[in-house]
Amino acid sequence: MANNLKDNEFDVIIVGGGITGAGTARDCSLRGLRVLLIERNDIADGATGRNHGLLHSGARYAVKDSESATECIKENMILRNIARNCVEDTQGLFITLPEDAETGFGLDYQKKFIDACIAAGISAKAIDPKDAIRMEPSVNPTLIGAVQVPDGSVDPFRLCSANVLDAKLHGAKVITYTEVTEFVKEDNTIKGVKVHNKKTGEDAVYYAPVTVNAAGIWGHSIAEMAGVHVGMYPAKGALLVFGHRVNNVVINRCRKSADGDILVPGDTVTVIGTTSTKVPFEECDNMSVTREEVELLLREGCALCPSLANTRILRAYAGVRPLVASDDDPTGRSISRGIVCLDHETRDGIKGFITITGGKLMTYRLMAEWATDAVCRKLAVAEQCKTAVTPLPGSEPKDQYSEVKIPQFAGANLGMKASIGRQGSMVRKIDFTNAEDRELVCECEQVTVGEIRYAVNELGVTSLRDLRRRTRVGMGTCQGAFCIGKAAAALAAALGKPEMADQLAADYLNERWKGMSAVGWGDTLREMEYLQRVYKSSNESK
Ligand SMILES: Cc1cc2nc3c(=O)[nH]c(=O)nc-3n(C[C@H](O)[C@H](O)[C@H](O)COP(=O)(O)OP(=O)(O)OC[C@H]3O[C@@H](n4cnc5c(N)ncnc54)[C@H](O)[C@@H]3O)c2cc1C
Repeated sequence: MANNLKDNEFDVIIVGGGITGAGTARDCSLRGLRVLLIERNDIADGATGRNHGLLHSGARYAVKDSESATECIKENMILRNIARNCVEDTQGLFITLPEDAETGFGLDYQKKFIDACIAAGISAKAIDPKDAIRMEPSVNPTLIGAVQVPDGSVDPFRLCSANVLDAKLHGAKVITYTEVTEFVKEDNTIKGVKVHNKKTGEDAVYYAPVTVNAAGIWGHSIAEMAGVHVGMYPAKGALLVFGHRVNNVVINRCRKSADGDILVPGDTVTVIGTTSTKVPFEECDNMSVTREEVELLLREGCALCPSLANTRILRAYAGVRPLVASDDDPTGRSISRGIVCLDHETRDGIKGFITITGGKLMTYRLMAEWATDAVCRKLAVAEQCKTAVTPLPGSEPKDQYSEVKIPQFAGANLGMKASIGRQGSMVRKIDFTNAEDRELVCECEQVTVGEIRYAVNELGVTSLRDLRRRTRVGMGTCQGAFCIGKAAAALAAALGKPEMADQLAADYLNERWKGMSAVGWGDTLREMEYLQRVYKSSNESK
């Protein structure tokens, strides 16, 4: 918008590279603003990379929070169009078990649930339990009722990355591993931010007439830094990842929201979640999953799908929901998942500062639209939002990548097909012309050397953890045991720093270990021992 800006001057600065910040950066740049997005770690490192990946139909909220339910179903339909390569139409079942009838959530509740869904615009229909078993053979066969809804699954990493990529393609500057440490504040106006680059150790200052706080649960401290208070409620949720895709349809429990009542299939695995516990703000940076949480999730998961009892658990992880506090609910479950967009000029007398928070992954696009509308009002920009109808990079119609020829030998064929699934139409940017580029690095997830090069060149990857978020490398059944050395070497080569390979592998394994230690028994323990052996022997052989 503004002309003649210096290199460190922008129309808008966005703090936080989760889905909310990424979506806001995209919307602002599509409306012609000069955007700076700042993330202290990698993108999708906060709650965005630590959730179920459920593409909510809204049914879960229909009885208690019809506004959130309506927002969900509208955004569900939009995401199916604009983010084709990030979402999967799995459909969802809300099941009633015999024990639910004993706690007041029997078939009478099912009727109330269906009525609330229909009122919110969600197509929900009761189906015969036998049909539910045919639709999803892994579901608990003792079910006495089932409702089919348009749930799906969404890859949060891919969605976040596609928003960041589009923002960049429209001129945004994106800096990661850089923390906002202070605001440049004059009288009652926020004029910019001071930042610290965690990799280079350098400090810098950036200026803009508007700054958006999209820092999720950390938005609480960002607001304090700017001199305003946003009452937030840090609600931790724990989840478990199972070793293969146990179900193809999302399975939910048809009752008041409770622990461990959603089972979501995503890519090659299945995720069960979640719990809800208030945690101190100081703990949000260091979430770990307790033994009790694992046992609870496993018990409730088996009620949805009994075969989970004999399925290997790959890992456990936890995230913190950025909920805006409205009462003293000890679990945070009754707090609305509604969107909160605050203009701190009208609310607190602080000019040039907006907070966007609350909501869900599911409603990020709408959150970004609200935040960008608020930015545009401040900058007197009349451009309208286009994100509901403009496909994200990778999600353009298939004919845009039909020119990519898939060769007929098995390895390359699978790798290219997997790349198309992940990167959608952006696959045209991946080089498959020579044998080295077609070589498979991660067999579980079918990631090739070419896709790794693409992730480095176009998606801002600097470590194996970043690479995992863009390509799923090491996220499958072997958890990196077979591919970590190869992946580290391919990444180091793509970064032009082959000497970094060992360090990249060590950093990755340290981080993966955290998620495995909470579930270290049986097959998972055997896999951990094996992983340790592979790692040690590859180091000893050097
Ligand atoms: C357990 C769990 C399960 C969930 N399941 C679902 C689901 O299935 N479907 C759904 O729709 N939603 C789900 N959600 C909700 C969803 O994950 C969140 O609402 C959403 O990801 C929030 O995104 P965000 O960008 O606002 O916050 P975040 O993703 O947390 O991003 C905030 C970012 O700000 C950065 N940051 C913080 N401080 C600074 C600073 N000083 N400088 C620079 N950057 C900073 C952080 O590093 C972080 O990356 C779930 C949440 C949890 C916790």
